[in-house]
Amino acid sequence: MSFTQGPGAIYDVVVIGSGPAGQKAAIQAAKAGRKVAVIERDRRVGGSCVHTGTIPSKSLREHALRQRVRRVDLMDEPIQSLLDGVGMTVAAHDAYMIAQLERNHIALLRGRASFNGPHELSMRRIDGSQISIRAPIVIIATGSRPRSPAHLAVDHEHVLDSDSILSLAYLPRTLLVLGGGVIASEYAAMFAALGCKVTQADQLDQPLAFLDPELTSFYLEELRRNGGEYIPRAEAVSTRWDGISQVCTEFKDGRRILADKVLVGLGRLANVDGLKLEAAGVALTSRGHVQVDENLQTTAAGVYAAGDVIGPPALASVSMEQGRRAACHALGLLVPSDPVSRLPSGVYTIPEIATVGLDEHGARRHFGGAIVGRAKFEEIARGQINGCQRGLLKLIADPGGRRVVGVQIVGDGATELVHIGQLGLTAELDVDAYVDNVFNFPTMAEAYRIAAFDIVKQRGRSTTSDMVADAVSAVL
Ligand SMILES: Cc1cc2nc3c(=O)[nH]c(=O)nc-3n(C[C@H](O)[C@H](O)[C@H](O)COP(=O)(O)OP(=O)(O)OC[C@H]3O[C@@H](n4cnc5c(N)ncnc54)[C@H](O)[C@@H]3O)c2cc1C
Repeated sequence: MSFTQGPGAIYDVVVIGSGPAGQKAAIQAAKAGRKVAVIERDRRVGGSCVHTGTIPSKSLREHALRQRVRRVDLMDEPIQSLLDGVGMTVAAHDAYMIAQLERNHIALLRGRASFNGPHELSMRRIDGSQISIRAPIVIIATGSRPRSPAHLAVDHEHVLDSDSILSLAYLPRTLLVLGGGVIASEYAAMFAALGCKVTQADQLDQPLAFLDPELTSFYLEELRRNGGEYIPRAEAVSTRWDGISQVCTEFKDGRRILADKVLVGLGRLANVDGLKLEAAGVALTSRGHVQVDENLQTTAAGVYAAGDVIGPPALASVSMEQGRRAACHALGLLVPSDPVSRLPSGVYTIPEIATVGLDEHGARRHFGGAIVGRAKFEEIARGQINGCQRGLLKLIADPGGRRVVGVQIVGDGATELVHIGQLGLTAELDVDAYVDNVFNFPTMAEAYRIAAFDIVKQRGRSTTSDMVADAVSAVL
C-alpha cells in the first residue's frame, strides 16, 4: 500500500483516542520506530480513565475511607473539597502523558476523527477546519460513555450519570443508585460511607451478580452497616424532578422512591457515533461494540480496535494491554501469550473485591469438583492490627487439592493482594508452594498461607508431603 501520494498528513500508525488503550498503542508503535499520531477530540488527554472514571472516583473513595475512620459529618462540605488533590493528580497525569507522547515523538492532533476509508481519516478541529490523515495502520481506541435510557431523563443536575456525579456541588442527603454493576456499586458504597442515605435498586437479585455470592454478601453487609439498602428485582420506568427538591423514580411494580439525587449507572455504550465506520468496512457486534478477532483486528485489514470500544471487561488495566497488543500485532512484533484466564479484576466497592482465575462455581463446573481454602481476615494478625477484620480470601484448587485455579478476595487491600495469586496462576504454582514459602509477618499476604493450609487439611494427610504435613500439624 503506497501512502506517498495524495493530500493529507501521512503516518505509519494513527491512533484515535488518548485513553489508556490509545496511549499504550501509540507508545508501543513509537518505541518500534514508527511515525505515530494520536487524534484526541477532548481538550485533555487521558480519556475517561483520568478525567471522569478511574482516577477521580478512586480519589473520592479514598476520602470516603478516611471519613469512615474519622466519623465526621461531611454533609455541608462541597464535593470539590472532598476531591482534594484530585485536580492536582489529574493535572500531573495530564502533563506526564503529554510529555510521554512528546518524548516518543508522537504527534498529538486535536480534533474529532472519522473514516473516509480504512486508511484515510478526516479530522475536524474545534474551529471547524478539516484535515485528512492517512496511515496503513489505524487503531480505534475511542472508549465508551454512560448509557442513559430515554425514559430516565439524565439532566446532570438532579438525575446524574457517572460522568456528572462528581460535578455535584454538595453531597446529597439521599441518593438513589440505579444499577447493580461495578460502577453503580462502587458509587453506592462510596456515598453510603460518606454519610448519604443510599438506596441501590436493580433488576437482579444481587448486585455484582457476576461475582461469587460469598464475596457480594460482604458488600451488601457493609452497605447496610452504612445505612444503605439494596432493592432487588426493581426496574425503573421513569424519573421526574418535582421542581423543588426531590426526584421521584417510579418502578415497574408500582413502587415510587423519592431521593435528593438519582445516579443512573446502567452500563456504558461504545463511542462509535460519528466515526463513519461503514466507510472503513469496520463491523459492529450486536451489542454495538467494534468487532475484533483474537488479535484485536477489526473486519477491515490493518484497522485494529482496543479498550472499552470493543466491550467487556472495559477496564483501564485491560485496555492498556489491549492497546499494546493491537500495536504489536499490527507491526508484526512478537505478541506475548494471551493472559485471558489470568486477568485480574478489581472492584473498588467498600470493602474492595478482587478476583483472578476461576471461582468456586467455575472450578466445580470445569473440573467436576474443587477444594476451597478460606482465610478470614479476622484470623490474620495484620487484619487485627489494622482493624480490617471483615474480609475473606478464598483459594480455589482442583478436586485433588493440588493446583490453584483461582483466587477470590473481599476486604481492604484485596485489589493489591490478588496479584500474588495472579503470579501464582501464571507460574502454575501448586497449593503447597503457598505453604512452603515464608511470608512476612504480620502481613495480609499471610492469608494465602492460611487458605493453603485449609486446602491441605481438606485433601487429607495421606496425600500430603511429609514436610507439608508437619507444617500443617504445627499450625492447625
Ligand atoms: C466511574 C468509573 C470508574 C472506573 N474505575 C475503574 C477502575 O477502578 N479500574 C479500571 O481498570 N477501570 C476503571 N474504569 C474503566 C476505565 O476508565 C476504562 O476501561 C478506560 O478508561 C477505557 O480506556 P479507553 O482507552 O478504551 O477509553 P477512554 O478512556 O474512554 O478514552 C477514549 C478517548 O477517545 C476520545 N475519542 C472518542 N471518540 C473520538 C473521536 N471520534 N475522535 C477523537 N477522539 C475521540 C475520547 O475523548 C477519549 O479521550 C472506570 C470507569 C468509570 C466510568
